[in-house]
Amino acid sequence: MVQGYTGRFAPSPTGPLHAGSLVAALASWLDARAVGGTWLVRIEDVDTPRCLPGMDALILQQLAACGLQPDAPPTYQSHRSPLYQQALDQLVASGWAYPCACSRKEIEVACAAQGQVRSRNAELVYPGTCRSGLHGRPARAWRLRTDKFKENRPLAHIPPTSVAINLIVNGILTWNDRLLGPQQQNLAAEVGDFVLRRADGLWAYQLAVVVDDAARGITHVVRGQDLADNTPRQIWLQQALGLPTPQYLHTPLVLGPNGEKLSKQNGAQALDLAQPLAALNAAAGVLGLPAAGGDVASALAQWVVQWNS
Ligand code: GLU
Repeated sequence: MVQGYTGRFAPSPTGPLHAGSLVAALASWLDARAVGGTWLVRIEDVDTPRCLPGMDALILQQLAACGLQPDAPPTYQSHRSPLYQQALDQLVASGWAYPCACSRKEIEVACAAQGQVRSRNAELVYPGTCRSGLHGRPARAWRLRTDKFKENRPLAHIPPTSVAINLIVNGILTWNDRLLGPQQQNLAAEVGDFVLRRADGLWAYQLAVVVDDAARGITHVVRGQDLADNTPRQIWLQQALGLPTPQYLHTPLVLGPNGEKLSKQNGAQALDLAQPLAALNAAAGVLGLPAAGGDVASALAQWVVQWNS
């Protein structure tokens, strides 16, 4: 029993669950159930133009068919804008966030002048142009400073029993992923001041995730490895907002025929509602669990026992 364990699965309703997303769903459910914890579902519909109508209901139906029932009704990010605004206001008041007037083109020009090449995920590191003010230009987006925390410090709120070793040393953030082991990133050098509210007015994933995980008291985040690279940004934001840092476990990805993460774009089939056990067995295999026969309930019960052993 892990005291007060609360985990979550946070699908974006941009497509149905498929073999890849089921791995994260099953792993987060098993991790919670194996310690008698609470498991929640959050629909991440913050990027509204990318969401498809009815997809939330389909995903919940697919989870139910797989026996993955949340302990409370799901929450929707699209209903939570006032909370994201409150967090942004707090960050602005404490000098962490600032408005940015730069267009994509201007950022490209400034980065080229610095000799910057697109390396990390084909993203440019924001050169910090608007840190010193807008100089009369209209604000487009809001960004978080990554040049704070110059001093070395352990991250706040880590429970003494935690296996995490979260630490900021000389601007390098180190944390311990429960599966991947010790990880580190120099946010200022590798990512730069990142967007909290986009130029189109939409809330950035990083801010929404951090506010929502804290609001629901999430202690353990279990999700796909493609999101591991976001973790330092989220830990940084938690620190800036004075919020606790959960423990992180990033699950292996299922690759599509082109060798990239399986997604709707590279031909992922929606999980077949008529064959939930077959889909669960495939997901369990990716997690290193043995195949299970019988029905969905008995397979899940078997894996709950095997999860931490
Ligand atoms: N909504 C994200 C996705 O579907 C997951 C975010 C998270 O688990 O932090 O990829």
